Amino acid sequence: MDVRPSGIHHVTAIAGDPQANADFYLNALGMRLVKKTVNFDSPDTYHLYYGDRAGNPGTIMTFFPWPGAPKGRIGAGQATTTSFSVPEGSIGWWQQHLASLGIAATRPAERLEEDVLSLRDPDGLVIELVASADFHDTDPWDGGRVPTEHAIRGIRAVTLTEHDLERTAGMLNGKLGFRLAAEEGNRYRFHTDEAAAGVGTVVDVIADPTAARGLVASGTVHHVAYRAPDQPTQVDWQQKLIGDGVNVTEIRDRSYFTSIYFREPGGVLLEIATDGPGFDYDEPLLKLGRSLKLPPWLEPNRAQIENALPQLKVEE
Ligand code: ZN
Repeated sequence: MDVRPSGIHHVTAIAGDPQANADFYLNALGMRLVKKTVNFDSPDTYHLYYGDRAGNPGTIMTFFPWPGAPKGRIGAGQATTTSFSVPEGSIGWWQQHLASLGIAATRPAERLEEDVLSLRDPDGLVIELVASADFHDTDPWDGGRVPTEHAIRGIRAVTLTEHDLERTAGMLNGKLGFRLAAEEGNRYRFHTDEAAAGVGTVVDVIADPTAARGLVASGTVHHVAYRAPDQPTQVDWQQKLIGDGVNVTEIRDRSYFTSIYFREPGGVLLEIATDGPGFDYDEPLLKLGRSLKLPPWLEPNRAQIENALPQLKVEE
């Protein structure tokens, strides 16, 4: 069985204050809150999902916000940058928009022939907006603070910072089906075979043997999830990884998808998540994110869970 990735499903990071997190991703970046739920493994913490109108795989950025969480350190063995696609010609609009909100953003020289805007979220997470010509099959959110013509289209890429390029490249090439497509300085760009310009199909590896190791806490990425179209493919992928001697978890039910987890050799936690059932599994598409959703096994504790969660106000 030849298992190939069809790109990134979601990126999950750790935040501090949930209100500051929601204000940034909804108001500044113009994403949609597609699910307000709790961390299934720690239900006194929110799990907030932001994405496009329907929460399509490849557009999803999620957070575990812990008020007062200790600050992490961005470094080796981590996904150190999350890049979103915006339409070509929109970078200037974004510069003005972010400046009007007092959010600092830098526009470094073109990188691998791409126009990039670099900024940080309220917890210091590194975010990029990358101008991309491709308008893939996502469904930008038209009910937010960013005009649809400039809205984020989805996740373009993640950047992994690694001490040892070879080991990580070995897993990307061999087990995960990416191939080296470009390099510039110590940046190595890997693509999936299909739709190399599409949503979530790029992984950049920065090879930096002297970088301090990252510490996963507030302001850092917790894991990167890749897509499996369905559960049989996820099982095939799991068996292939096990056959290759990789330590993979059992399949976990995340309500909106099922998941397996494993680490790449440099230490970054990876997940394979199914495309379905999707975010309209437990509430209608029109009402995504408006009320706190819990999986069936936590529903009996709803009152207790709601009492323990911090206040969070989201404007429609
Ligand atoms: Zn995940």
